[in-house]
Amino acid sequence: MPNLELLPINVAGEWRLGGGDEYQSLYPATGEPIARLRAASLADVEEAIARADVAFRTSGWAQMLPHVRAAVLHRVAALIRERAEDLAQKQRLDNGKPISETRALVASAAGTFQFFAAALETLEDTITPSRGPYVTMSVHEPMGVVAAITPWNSPIASEAQKLAPALAAGNAVVVKPAEVTPLMALELAKICEEAGVPKGIVSVLPGKGSVIGDAITKHPLVKRVSFTGGTTTGKHIAHIAADKMMPVSLELGGKSPTMVLEDADLDHAVAGVLYGIFSSSGESCIAGSRLFVARGIYDEFVTRVAEAAKNLRVGDPADERTQMGPLITAKHREGIERYVDLGVSEGGRIRTGGVRPQGAAFDKGYFYTPTILEGLTNSARITQEEIFGPVLVAMPFDSEEELIAQANDSVYALAAGVWSRDFKRAWRLGRAVQAGTVWVNTYKQFSVSTPFGGWRDSGLGREKGREGIFQYMEQKSMYWGTNEQPIPWAK
Ligand code: NDP
Repeated sequence: MPNLELLPINVAGEWRLGGGDEYQSLYPATGEPIARLRAASLADVEEAIARADVAFRTSGWAQMLPHVRAAVLHRVAALIRERAEDLAQKQRLDNGKPISETRALVASAAGTFQFFAAALETLEDTITPSRGPYVTMSVHEPMGVVAAITPWNSPIASEAQKLAPALAAGNAVVVKPAEVTPLMALELAKICEEAGVPKGIVSVLPGKGSVIGDAITKHPLVKRVSFTGGTTTGKHIAHIAADKMMPVSLELGGKSPTMVLEDADLDHAVAGVLYGIFSSSGESCIAGSRLFVARGIYDEFVTRVAEAAKNLRVGDPADERTQMGPLITAKHREGIERYVDLGVSEGGRIRTGGVRPQGAAFDKGYFYTPTILEGLTNSARITQEEIFGPVLVAMPFDSEEELIAQANDSVYALAAGVWSRDFKRAWRLGRAVQAGTVWVNTYKQFSVSTPFGGWRDSGLGREKGREGIFQYMEQKSMYWGTNEQPIPWAK
């Protein structure tokens, strides 16, 4: 094992070793350790939150004029850009994504801070129509200490998506990154400190979600939790939030349908379907994992997608040409393999993939081939349950009614794709499908200026968009009396 120094964590601005158990972050492409750290302990959680609360009340961060706080967030964006390559390489090592993808995630994190800095500087409270001798306003106040709990699949982007609006709103933020990918949140905390965010306003507490995440969520001083992760964990957090009467936003799982109609531009649709399911090795909440193809073009289309899937470049995440890196852990790959076996036992046929790639380059990492199954219905377990891996289930459809009924037959409703040259049909289907995001003739495109979130088991609340800052604020209505005389009732 290389000689790795123990990394400090950030307890309300104190960089020190965590009080919890020691563990390692492993490079998923080789299984080798790339960082050693000690997780936060429950005492660290208590201290971080208590000190964050003091920093919120006394550091002046919450009271800073919007354009002054925005300038700090602009500096965060600039520092991320200055260190972009180093951050992208660290994230590649931490979670095994191909370097081309981690570079894009770092750029998106910088863009998120820039966007929320601009949004903060231009955000307006409203004067509402008066219904009496008073002027009425709707204003917003920061909440205090808020928590951001993030998963392992796109660390720097998920953390920026929560940290930037929460800081813009004037809060103190406690970040709990996924246990297996602690590095990016720690880097962001360093950058925030250098950019001028006051001490104590940002904490990063790596460690087991069931212990550290749970303690953060239950803490009485934590006024909001913004969570991205699995639906089971999200529901658990929602129960705690109900007991505390605490608002939460939950970005959860998905099983998104992609619908390819007879009149689709097939070159575009093949590329979009491949990117939709196999980019990020399918470890993506919005992966287009259920493919519905019009029966008349089904064979031709699925053959083209399967041939292209065979040619995807799976391998070394450090290689700029790599399209699919390894999966996050050996355990996660085993889970995916069990799902593929289940699909076969349910009557599915493997059209391509379904195995680990062979060769010395793949021996130590957690690689898996892009996999397509067919011969299953939408009610099969592997068509209903989120696999979070590079596994696509392809199904033919005969009518629009049947297509919509099947697309909507899922506990999830996060995203959907429609491929058609007929804009009226695409409009009809896009409006009929139940999902937080619908892509028409494109897939998995993201803009920080557009709200994101899911329906049903895919979550509650929305992130991104200018209004994203308000998620981290309490609304307040103010009445300014303009009466010339005392209120008549009191006479
Ligand atoms: P988990 O729900 O297991 O974990 C997500 C985060 O929550 C991790 O930091 C985890 O810590 C923490 N956590 C776990 N248990 C608790 C708890 N009891 N209380 C508080 N925090 C807890 O999800 P995965 O890591 O498996 O991530 C994959 C899931 O995330 C998929 O279902 C995917 O769809 C979803 N996701 C959703 C996205 C969206 O925007 N809708 C985007 C990306 C992913 P630890 O690391 O220790 O487990």
